[in-house]
Amino acid sequence: MLLVGLVIVFEDKNASATVNDVTTGDTNTQNDDKNKKATVYIDPGHGEIDAGTLAYNGKYEKDINLSIAKKVGKNLEDAGVNVVYSRTTDELYSEIEADDMQHRIDESKKVNATYLVSIHCNASDEGTRTGVEAFTDTTNETSMALATSIMKELEGLKYTNSNGIIDGTGLLHMVGFAKVPTALVEVGYIDNESDGKYILGEKGQKAIAKAIADGILNELNK
Ligand SMILES: [Zn+2]
Repeated sequence: MLLVGLVIVFEDKNASATVNDVTTGDTNTQNDDKNKKATVYIDPGHGEIDAGTLAYNGKYEKDINLSIAKKVGKNLEDAGVNVVYSRTTDELYSEIEADDMQHRIDESKKVNATYLVSIHCNASDEGTRTGVEAFTDTTNETSMALATSIMKELEGLKYTNSNGIIDGTGLLHMVGFAKVPTALVEVGYIDNESDGKYILGEKGQKAIAKAIADGILNELNK
């Protein structure tokens, strides 16, 4: 993956097309080719009147999700992946939650996404919970592999504990009605400073975004 990164750094957009035409059999070239075929649907959770959870400092989850999601998308695009976002601004398709969720799910299918990755921040009633977790259809091999790969990368950052992978089929519309392999990632509990300071900081967001993107790329390049 390092070489792929270097290609991006040293080539401009026009030149990279030539680089990708070279079929040297090099592993990185092959990875780049695989990435180019893939579309990943990135879903920054919530939007508009649906603010999501509230951070310890009063910031809204919807805005933090969007900020991290855009960074994930940038990482993927730099690796040659086609990225489609459910939203790039503070908006909703529908104020009826189920309709809005379904629209995002339908869109991921319409664009023929290899994966749907939904990005969220958590909060707990007691305000003391911490940790990263991922919701997926644990019976779907591809979804499970995606969630596992993303979690492994996030756990590697060691900014918080891990609550593991949870079967979200009966809990979350996005997971239960998924039409493409889906992982919904909760990057931590923003209602306390322990997780929140890292997740709201620019450095933390960059690291989290890179980890999520790497988790996705590891699976795409398998
Ligand atoms: Zn959320």
